Amino acid sequence: MTKSDNSPIHASTLLNRTGQGRHFLQIPGPSNTPDRVLRAIDFPTIDHRGPEFANLGLRILQAIKPVFGTTNPVIIYPGSGTGAWEAAMVNTLSPGDRVLMVETGQFATQWKNLAQKLQLQPEFISGDWRTGVNPADIHARLAADPEREIKAVCVVHNETSTGVTSDIASVRAAMDAAKHPALLMVDTISGIGSIAYAHDQWGVDVTIAGSQKGLMLPPGLGFNAISDKAIEASKHAKLPNAYWRWDEIIAANRNGYWPTTPATNLLYGLAEALDMLHEEGLHNVFERHQRHAQATRLAVQAWGLEILCTNPDQYSPVLTAVVMPKRADGTYYDADAFRKLVLGRYNMSLGTGLNKLQGWVFRIGHLGHFNDLMLIGTLGGVEMGLAAAGVPHQRGGVQAAIDYLAKS
Ligand SMILES: *Cc1c(COP(=O)(O)O)cnc(C)c1O
Repeated sequence: MTKSDNSPIHASTLLNRTGQGRHFLQIPGPSNTPDRVLRAIDFPTIDHRGPEFANLGLRILQAIKPVFGTTNPVIIYPGSGTGAWEAAMVNTLSPGDRVLMVETGQFATQWKNLAQKLQLQPEFISGDWRTGVNPADIHARLAADPEREIKAVCVVHNETSTGVTSDIASVRAAMDAAKHPALLMVDTISGIGSIAYAHDQWGVDVTIAGSQKGLMLPPGLGFNAISDKAIEASKHAKLPNAYWRWDEIIAANRNGYWPTTPATNLLYGLAEALDMLHEEGLHNVFERHQRHAQATRLAVQAWGLEILCTNPDQYSPVLTAVVMPKRADGTYYDADAFRKLVLGRYNMSLGTGLNKLQGWVFRIGHLGHFNDLMLIGTLGGVEMGLAAAGVPHQRGGVQAAIDYLAKS
């Protein structure tokens, strides 16, 4: 940003950082909010106990279900994705419970840290931050738990720090093969609304999501989709819980209300975003993400740069994490200096490398409210930025993406 750090941020500055035109928010969430959603939010707040509200509530609670692939209730909280992680755990688990988690990247690590703070005992299967969950590891660990001490298996569907997805159906198959009764909890905070998801069919017990990525909303809503088994577990769970309790919310939701004040204006936006997803058709939404992701990878490969994800079956449709090339002395060209240049010159935000990826990885978000020309603009900004920053690369990444989009 061009403003000094202590000056208040003014909306006009944000809309118009460098000259005219839109800012490109190409981090992998929060994503660009469509004008339709912004306009839907811009209405007077109504009485959340009044009759109009119930219509809104009932409509949303119904329309959200197919996005998760469930016919069960989906709980909607005012809160970020982290709150929805906490909700999943405090509703179903008890102090000291063992939970099996997998180190796919920074978000899996943060979730494991949250489990520790909740006095759970996470067992963390280590990972290389370049690949997804290996179902064989889950099977091996569960098979070695005859006392059934592990109460939940918790995995991240789309690891936003690395651009790697994990196959949830095969995690479920591994659990079933071990005949283990643990709950399956899945973080699809950055997958929901962008990647096909089947809560019921995959036998997921708690699905955790957030508003600000594929659902195309501003930050501020968290979601739990739940199975009958999770509801049963919630009756015996002993972790302290109050605000996050499902039972009171489910009871109020039956009539379209919430027990506490909901985020009314974000729910206006959610109703609009769900309309947009259903108008396009969920299948088409997911195909669009696959197509833009493939075009992005072709651009990265044409530049001669490396994709962080090393398993092509696990490439993310939501974002692509790119490895900076190395200098002759073995150090990486600075990813954050490159991002800073792109922001300053082209008014585009790219995602930073998180934690141990900092400085040598950057992330291109291609999710949510996004189309072919926005992708070409995004890739154009990256290619111009590489040249301007003196990062060695081959030309033609944008052209490779155009060629692919033109014929697919
Ligand atoms: C964004 C994200 C989170 C964190 O959500 P917050 O809304 O920042 O609390 C967790 N997990 C994944 C995979 C994410 O992408």
